[in-house]
Amino acid sequence: MGFVVAIDGPAASGKGTLARRLAEAYGFAHLDTGLLYRAVARILIDKNRPLEDEQAAEAAAAALNLAYVEESRLRGAEMGRAASIVSAYPAVRRALVDFQRRFAEQEPGAVLDGRDIGTVICPDAQVKLFVTASTEERARRRHRELALRGEDIGYEAVLEDLRARDARDSGRATAPLKQAEGAHVLDTSALDIEEALAHARRIVDAARTGA
Ligand code: C5P
Repeated sequence: MGFVVAIDGPAASGKGTLARRLAEAYGFAHLDTGLLYRAVARILIDKNRPLEDEQAAEAAAAALNLAYVEESRLRGAEMGRAASIVSAYPAVRRALVDFQRRFAEQEPGAVLDGRDIGTVICPDAQVKLFVTASTEERARRRHRELALRGEDIGYEAVLEDLRARDARDSGRATAPLKQAEGAHVLDTSALDIEEALAHARRIVDAARTGA
């Protein structure tokens, strides 16, 4: 069992970039678990099935083959919204647990980021981070990111979308987004990525040396 860093937080909090950079810094594997839920939603859309079809979503999750999924087709606001619908189905979440836990067992370590990593997937992770930022700051970041992709839907629409997603992710019955016990809270509202990374590295280094 390698060293596990579990990172959770709301959409556009900066957790994805932080997870990637941390994994690079320590030579750990990285899994953006949001991609799994996005892929399930993508499969339904490709098959012309409604996102409300829970059974089809479960079947897609059970048969999920990451190699099949092209990341460029999973990014974007529409897929994020679709993912947050299928991710609320308990059977979909159950079907994805083993894959995530196996991924976390890699040597020398793994960084997983999502919504329920520290609470459900890897409750014994050596380091748990809860990365957050104000809704307005997250909306500014997501708006900029989408505009760069040529998807400028306007700041207000992004803010509205984030609020809806936060409510869905935090309010669902199964594995809602919440701070795990023992998690370090990292508020990135006033931090750039390098500052957030430095902060996270101090936490990881302390855990690695048993400090
Ligand atoms: O992180 P990302 O925006 O890619 O996630 C898309 C959606 O997938 C989230 O809004 C959430 O509903 C769901 N998700 C989840 N559990 C995770 C990762 C993502 O429910 N571990």
